[in-house]
Amino acid sequence: MARYTGSVCKLCRREGEKLFLKADRCLSEKCSFNRRSYAPGQHGQGRSKLSEYGMQLREKQKLRRIYGLLEAQFERYFKMADRKKGVTGEVLLQLLETRLDNVVYRLRLAGSRREARQLVRHGFFTVNDHKVNIPSYQVKPGDVIKLKEGATDSTLIKGILEANNGQNIPEWLELDTNSWTARVKFIPSRDQIDVPVQEQLIVEFYSR
Ligand code: SF4
Repeated sequence: MARYTGSVCKLCRREGEKLFLKADRCLSEKCSFNRRSYAPGQHGQGRSKLSEYGMQLREKQKLRRIYGLLEAQFERYFKMADRKKGVTGEVLLQLLETRLDNVVYRLRLAGSRREARQLVRHGFFTVNDHKVNIPSYQVKPGDVIKLKEGATDSTLIKGILEANNGQNIPEWLELDTNSWTARVKFIPSRDQIDVPVQEQLIVEFYSR
């Protein structure tokens, strides 16, 4: 599967806000955005006012980068959302939010979506007792996600769980920290999805 291999901090600087793509580092003084909050490149410090198209494009890029998707993958999600019943922008966010890698991140079992994706790929989780190593796997209400037996012995997992312990998880998920078993209670509505984008601009971008 193709993936973006460049500097993720540049993506925050390009979007003009912190996208929290790098776990602990994002909250530390080492965050590049804290030091250079202007866009990368020669003309980064001289950004002019964006056109309507520019704003739509930036919003689309921001959402795509938050979830760590390539252009073609993101476009597929949009087409899927457009075909489904409901408000396209909200359905798009619901599809992205219910990806397994995102659910692992929301459960605080990984420090970032990037880290969550890696853990899923390495087979650290089961869904309804079946090993699932596909980050884009779409979970649904009632699904039970479990950290694989013995995973908490791994230094990597121990570190992640300690670092993220005590952080809130969204109301549409529940987690039992004794057995490291989670359940999807329901599909979140727009106001339960904590993503700083104006999805209507993305719908307008694809409707041009
Ligand atoms: Fe963005 Fe995190 Fe890098 Fe800061 S450290 S620029 S928030 S990815």
